[in-house]
Amino acid sequence: MVFSLSEKLWNQAQELFPGGVNSPVRSFQSVGRHPFYVSRAKGSKLFDIDANCYTDYVCSWGALIHGHCYSPVVRAINEALQNGTSFGANCPLEIRLAQLIRSAMPSIEKIRFLNSGTEACMTAIRLARGFSRREKIMKFEGCYHGHVDSLLVKAGSGALTTGIPDSEGIPASLSALTIILPWNDEEKLIAAFKKYGRETAAIILEPVPANCGLIPPKEGFLESIETQARAYGTLIIFDEVITGFRLSYGGAQALFGIKPDLTVLGKIIGGGLPVGAIGGKKEIMDSLSPLGKVYQAGTLSGNPLAMASGIAQLEELQKGHAYQYLENLGQQLEAGMLEIQKKLSYPLQFHRFGSLFSFFFTSKKVTSAADAYQVDKKKFSSFFTALLSSRIFIPPSPFETAFLSTAHTESDIDELLKIVYDTLKQML
Ligand code: PLP
Repeated sequence: MVFSLSEKLWNQAQELFPGGVNSPVRSFQSVGRHPFYVSRAKGSKLFDIDANCYTDYVCSWGALIHGHCYSPVVRAINEALQNGTSFGANCPLEIRLAQLIRSAMPSIEKIRFLNSGTEACMTAIRLARGFSRREKIMKFEGCYHGHVDSLLVKAGSGALTTGIPDSEGIPASLSALTIILPWNDEEKLIAAFKKYGRETAAIILEPVPANCGLIPPKEGFLESIETQARAYGTLIIFDEVITGFRLSYGGAQALFGIKPDLTVLGKIIGGGLPVGAIGGKKEIMDSLSPLGKVYQAGTLSGNPLAMASGIAQLEELQKGHAYQYLENLGQQLEAGMLEIQKKLSYPLQFHRFGSLFSFFFTSKKVTSAADAYQVDKKKFSSFFTALLSSRIFIPPSPFETAFLSTAHTESDIDELLKIVYDTLKQML
């Protein structure tokens, strides 16, 4: 494969952007190679500027559940574009998208649109603190909620402790208010609530964590979180930026039958354009300005292009065929991976939940972030590079999750399985 045009741009990018990129994972740093530059994409395929074509299992980090350039979405954006790009005033499309989301997620009585998942998580925390008049928050190790100061914090493996920032520039006094919990550990959850529950404004979680590889909740764990939070008057924030409208039309909350106080959304609800949203109980949401005293605003919030794109994507999903189709593809992939494991016994854990999947290069079971951090990163890099050479694009990090879209086909999955088999056999 030739990457000469991508290499040329990569050299220019080093001069222009810190680390050559506008979002760190795009640097391919954790897989030890240079990235490619995309010229266009259609369906399940990405084309780089050197005319290499890849089957894409990143899908814009999950935003493109129907794949690239999906006709209803492109048409809706084109139509909206004729009327203007941003009004700085209300537009009818905001109402339609809000109604669609509210009817899919009954826990959402009121909603506010923002421009990214990060912004939405930031607002969710401020709102929870403003509403409850408590300052502490709880989050889980390995769950990512955007680059919000109080949320960019994790703990030493398995430790129940107040947070140590993951990034410089975060005041220690702020991260000290963040309590970090190990995922899937009920004992530590109960202990944390006993110690900090009454001072804790909210517990925020990805109901099916997908930012440390994919680590589904153990049976009953989400219910334990709910029980503890209710007992201590702590608000529950579901970060459904990935899972919302992906695991089911009603998101993870519909699947697990849990009604969070606040829900954070992004990705799919924008159909590939920048968007975020926070929604929840009316009495909490009404604490936001201009009604309440928790301030939040946005020049481009609810902008007509993102709203039109989101409406088109959700209206297609509302028809309902997508979820069974994605589940079928997921099952095909999972069954194929089981076969591969039977044949090769490679020290690898394959996780799948609906249309999400990830590969952990370890022989041990992975049920927490601490387990995930033990993976063999070098092996993952070799695996990623071999797949890329076979024109398969999976997330360029051992700690990210891959995505299926309705644009993928059974033959895409057959091809993926064959390449994974050949690659692992070579790596034995
Ligand atoms: N929450 C989750 C679960 C995410 O996966 C992400 C991004 O990947 C975010 C929040 C932040 O969203 P954004 O990148 O739109 O700021």
